[in-house]
This record gives sequence, C-alpha cells and structure tokens, in this order.
Amino acid sequence: MNNSAENLSINQDCIFCKIVSGIIKSNIIYETEFSLVFQDNAPQAPIHYLIIPKQHVRDLVDCTDKQLLIDLISIPAILAARIGNEISFKLVTNNGYAAGQRVFHLHFHFMSGKQF
Ligand code: AMP
Ligand code: ZN
Repeated sequence: MNNSAENLSINQDCIFCKIVSGIIKSNIIYETEFSLVFQDNAPQAPIHYLIIPKQHVRDLVDCTDKQLLIDLISIPAILAARIGNEISFKLVTNNGYAAGQRVFHLHFHFMSGKQF
C-alpha cells in the first residue's frame, strides 16, 4: 500500500534515494535531469545497470509523470549506442513484491553481455 511518505520526492528510508543524493556510493554510468543509471551491485549479467528516476516513485504503476516515463524509457537506446556493436539487452522492471521487487523505488534492470 502507498503511504504519503512514499509520494514525497525523496524518501529518507529509500536506498535508491540515498544513491541519488550521494549518501550511498554507486558507480554512476549516465544521468539526465530526471534519471540516473548506475551499476547493480549484485550483477546478474556482465552488464547490469539500474535505470531509476531521481525523484522517489514506488513502482511503474505509481509513475504517472509522462515526461519522466519518456526520459526513463529513452535511456536504454542511449546506453546501447554507447556500448556499441549492436548489442542485445534485456530490460526488466519488477512491479510489486510477488514480481520480485525488493527495492521500492522504480527501477529498470538493463542487462546485457550474456546469452539469456
Ligand atoms: P528488484 O529485486 O527488482 O527490486 O531489484 C533491486 C536491485 O537493486 C537488485 O538487483 C540489487 O542487486 C540492487 N541493489 C540493491 N542495493 C543496491 C546498491 N546499494 N547499489 C546497487 N545496486 C543495488
Ligand atoms: Zn527512493
């Protein structure tokens, strides 16, 4: 369930908000005004990045800001172009606990570099 704290732009209990604010260190790959990309610290592929909004949004269903959605979903093509060689990649978001979501700050897993 949502609560009001989760709708604030920064959630002080949220690990990814702490990455955005620099309180927790991460390996940042790319950023825009609205979004941040950093390396997953338990990678499931040779390339495993997380694409997140800089503001706190619980999950994809809670993300109603179309400008933000366009920004987030434009990033995989930019990453692929930077990596080069016409790479294949997988883009996954887990929406809700039963789907496997464990960090309740919207993120897309960008995974590449192996045969899935
Ligand atoms: P999910 O299960 O979809 O919520 O995915 C959460 C992801 O966040 C997992 O792949 C974790 O490895 C990753 N993760 C958790 N904490 C950190 C962190 N401090 N830095 C980078 N990745 C993290
Ligand atoms: Zn957050």
